[in-house]
Amino acid sequence: MTGINRRNLFMAAGATMAAPMAAAAATPAAMSAPGVKAEGQPVIGNPDIPQEPGKRTRWAIVGLGTFALGQVIPGILASDKCTITAFVSGNPQKAKDLGAHYGVTKFYDYNNFDSIAADREIDCVYIVLPVGLHAEFTIRALKAGKHVLCEKPMASTVAECEAMVAAAKAANRQLGVAYRVHFEPNNVDAAKRVKAGEIGKLRYLTGDAGFNANLNWPPHVWRLQKGLGGGGSMYDIGIYAMNGVLMCTDEEPVSVSAVYSYPRDDVRFKEVEGGVDWRMTFPSGISAQGSSSYCYFGGNRQKIFGSEGSIIMDPANTYYEQRVTIQKGGSGIMELHAGNPYTQFAGQVDGFAEAARTNTPHRTPGEMGLRDIRLIQAMYRSADAGGASVKV
Ligand code: NDP
Repeated sequence: MTGINRRNLFMAAGATMAAPMAAAAATPAAMSAPGVKAEGQPVIGNPDIPQEPGKRTRWAIVGLGTFALGQVIPGILASDKCTITAFVSGNPQKAKDLGAHYGVTKFYDYNNFDSIAADREIDCVYIVLPVGLHAEFTIRALKAGKHVLCEKPMASTVAECEAMVAAAKAANRQLGVAYRVHFEPNNVDAAKRVKAGEIGKLRYLTGDAGFNANLNWPPHVWRLQKGLGGGGSMYDIGIYAMNGVLMCTDEEPVSVSAVYSYPRDDVRFKEVEGGVDWRMTFPSGISAQGSSSYCYFGGNRQKIFGSEGSIIMDPANTYYEQRVTIQKGGSGIMELHAGNPYTQFAGQVDGFAEAARTNTPHRTPGEMGLRDIRLIQAMYRSADAGGASVKV
């Protein structure tokens, strides 16, 4: 639509309607039904977010690291409703170079970040920083009046997560935690099938998630430090399997237990744990168990067992290719495939853009991130106590 937007249309309509409007204005009382009067109303929605369907929600990306470059930025560029207007980085030259590459022209750093408050071309902020920085930058962005999508895990502590949720409420802005799997078509489909009873009554779920951490690779180095990583394998990678399991249940766990599972003399694990084997029990009697690891290769699978069938997801939550097989008595095996590789990343930001535009909760809100940190902290308490059951 060249040069035509809703405002232009109103102005054009206003010109042709001017004469009859002027005539009617002479008898204002006659225009309204008895008891009806014009009166001001509170703001509904966020005036800064473009309401016109063709306009894209504008994002600032905070932290231009490997995941931002590899998945977040391409995902936004592949989305239907979003665009990137600003980069926030501690490395100005990198930000400028990437800006030139992607056509992004606004730059902020970690010191002047709060001045995004005055930038009306930023609607939403995507936090892609190490975990230990999530709470600070999320709260600063919310205070600046922006909606925030924060990477998983939400933050280092339960108290930080609670402060983030409270900051979103105080600012009347949306806070989401970037659990991309909730926008990945095969995972969404599998969870729908489970909840629709396609594999009968849900009985038992498992999830394994891990990789072998590399002490010489910068993105892994901060993950092995408590201050920046927040926690260890369970925080960074085990959370996928735990959250993926919870995506398929219609109930929340009542107790958890866990044991640490990693070589204690491994120099990588001086500050955070290298592995956790965990279990969750639910009110109905079903249970789930899984593992997280910074010392094994290729852990990325989930299994969901029902009374009439099972769903195997292997891999369950990679960036680009899930494989889901569904097995039911007598009906053989069915395989689902992921389709467009950027679907989950694009779907996630489009979903959040809609939540921000309408100021309604995102599919994976801050409360979900808070729940997961509470559960992981309870697992740590159990593992510290040698595997005792901990009520949650
Ligand atoms: P990287 O180390 O690759 O990137 C982190 C970026 O944060 C850096 O490049 C830097 O950006 C910025 N930063 C600011 N302060 C620091 C600091 N003190 N130390 C290190 N980096 C700093 O990490 P990832 O991209 O792998 O992870 C970023 C976030 O994304 C994490 O929360 C992680 O859990 C999450 N993630 C999510 C995944 C998913 O599938 N959902 C997958 C991978 C990661 P700059 O130079 O621009 O300042």
